[in-house]
Amino acid sequence: MEKILIVDDSAVQAIQLRTILETDYEITVAQTAEDGLAYASSGEYSLVLLDVVMPGMDGFTLLSKLQDEVITQSVPVILITSLGDMAHEEQGLTMGAVDYIAKPFHPQIVRARVNTHVKLYRYRKQVEWQSMTDQLTGIANRRRYERYSVVKWQEATRLQIPISICMLDIDRFKAYNDTFGHPAGDKVISAVAGTLAHHLRRTTDFVARYGGEEFIGIILGGDAQSVFDHVKLLRKRIEELHIPHTPTVGPWVTVSIGGVTVIPQSGDDYRTYLNIADTMLYDAKRFGRNQVVWCGDAMKQLREK
Ligand code: GH3
Ligand code: MG
Ligand code: MG
Repeated sequence: MEKILIVDDSAVQAIQLRTILETDYEITVAQTAEDGLAYASSGEYSLVLLDVVMPGMDGFTLLSKLQDEVITQSVPVILITSLGDMAHEEQGLTMGAVDYIAKPFHPQIVRARVNTHVKLYRYRKQVEWQSMTDQLTGIANRRRYERYSVVKWQEATRLQIPISICMLDIDRFKAYNDTFGHPAGDKVISAVAGTLAHHLRRTTDFVARYGGEEFIGIILGGDAQSVFDHVKLLRKRIEELHIPHTPTVGPWVTVSIGGVTVIPQSGDDYRTYLNIADTMLYDAKRFGRNQVVWCGDAMKQLREK
């Protein structure tokens, strides 16, 4: 069942709306804009019904806050206004609310408007998901990675937990393509992606195809040593796929991996650490490929082999 959030300081009004909608949706009621923002930030809601006039933070302030957050900015907001309250309707719609519902409520109209916007939102999410999925491998593409990394970097900074950035590149892949052809190369990329996706441990572990034969991972939690150990296992698993490489290169297709683990402090720039991960990958290549190089605590480099 899809979830709807009602933000309204009037309990009576919230109950009226809940009664109209609760057979079709799972309803949460927040009585202040602050609570509304906290609920909405979970990213679980498909629609917000928002009262514009509330004590404390008002509906318009909440609306603009929702639009500033990556997680909530595409969630449709319907304003609850009083009959004839043209000024509020206009301001809300200009600010990006999708619709408004005037009091007193007409159940059929409330239901129809809500259903339409939830349906549109669902469709939009589906298209968005497809546009963020890599066609060849079915895992996340770079676009989804860009979004995910922003959200998780903020989360790690706020909660003061370690975040790891991991870059992976298939070794001597040009030679593979030259020997076996591009379609065979595509199969290798898919096999590597499948192995990576299979070894994600937590729901927050994330992997995307970053470009041609490069992948990027984001791991939340876990210290440098434990992530390094897990990533070493990944490298091993890919080698153990035993995909024959060009004989002059080596027996099997392998990957080089570079990464970094950090507890980000406010003011730290994600790109600095992305560059470190990239440098570690470069070192892994330079030191002979088919290995993991990691930047851990106090910038100490961990190296496999
Ligand atoms: P290194 O070990 O230094 O990474 O060597 P490399 O040959 O893998 O690196 P380079 O960056 O020179 O070449 C990457 C090659 O990956 C070039 C291109 O032919 C191949 N490639 C990139 N994207 C795709 C793709 O989508 N499909 C296939 N089959 N090959 C791709
Ligand atoms: Mg490359
Ligand atoms: Mg390569």
